[in-house]
Amino acid sequence: MKTLLLSLLSVVILWSDAHIFVYHRFGDSRYPSTDTTISQLKKEFKYFKANGYKIIPLEKLVNAVKNGKNIPDKWVVLTIDDNFRSFYDNAFDIFKRYNYTFSLFVYVEATQKKYPDYLSWKQLREISKYGSLEFHSYAHPHMTFMSDKKLKNDFQKGLKLFEKNLKIKPKYFSYPYGEYDNRVKSIAKSFGFDAIINQNMGAVGKGSDLYDLDRNALVGKSNLKFLLKFKYLKATWIEPKSYPKNGIITSLHVETKQSAKYGGLYTSGNGWEKIAIKNGIIDLKLDKKLTKARNRIIISIKNKISTKLLIKDNQWN
Ligand SMILES: [Zn+2]
Repeated sequence: MKTLLLSLLSVVILWSDAHIFVYHRFGDSRYPSTDTTISQLKKEFKYFKANGYKIIPLEKLVNAVKNGKNIPDKWVVLTIDDNFRSFYDNAFDIFKRYNYTFSLFVYVEATQKKYPDYLSWKQLREISKYGSLEFHSYAHPHMTFMSDKKLKNDFQKGLKLFEKNLKIKPKYFSYPYGEYDNRVKSIAKSFGFDAIINQNMGAVGKGSDLYDLDRNALVGKSNLKFLLKFKYLKATWIEPKSYPKNGIITSLHVETKQSAKYGGLYTSGNGWEKIAIKNGIIDLKLDKKLTKARNRIIISIKNKISTKLLIKDNQWN
């Protein structure tokens, strides 16, 4: 009996999920909604350490997902979007002190044109000894609003400058503003990245889409303990696939392998509600008006979640 219990427990532990987090600015009180204060950062690092979380390189997580491995529960990947100086000035030493590696996603134009708040190529080369440098576009555009041609140009220009100045080829890409749709995703994929990271709340588990890895923002008033509770829900989204023409979602069809009879549905601007699930399938008629330009539709089953991002006025879809 004891052995059975132990083996059951180890299964639970082995089958849990990792979390990717994203920071932006550090100790920069001018921009509270994208800032992490230094006391907040120290608190989070202390929490990881005290609770046995292992900060691993993004590459290690990507390889585990690629090879179909079970993902340990205590794996955490730290990423930083936008090459702000405040990382170098206020947080870099703390990362080094904890020996916490990271992936920093570079907004190329800001460094190339020496925008005042951003890191130089030289500083980025120094940073690359402690973490990996990855790609976050040339001009940091709202990608869903760009034509295929303009979008490809942005990638080409940015990647060329990145590789010329840093002498490395980035392996991973994160969307500016976390904004994407199927068209943007497939163009990004065509540039040969090993993985693409979004900015949707959630976890990474066995079966996660390497080109759509969920990542939680740790900025402003984000709650680390709350975000760590989420697990990955493997779900196939049949409806909705993109922002509905008139802004009204009329049907929700998502397939999972879960046995629960009820789950939760979150839509931006409307909040959470309870929904029925039949044999793992959610198939509902809805009349839900989307009120925002950037809408998140989230399905939750127990603490597992899956998100669909729907962006308004995408004339290219
Ligand atoms: Zn950004």
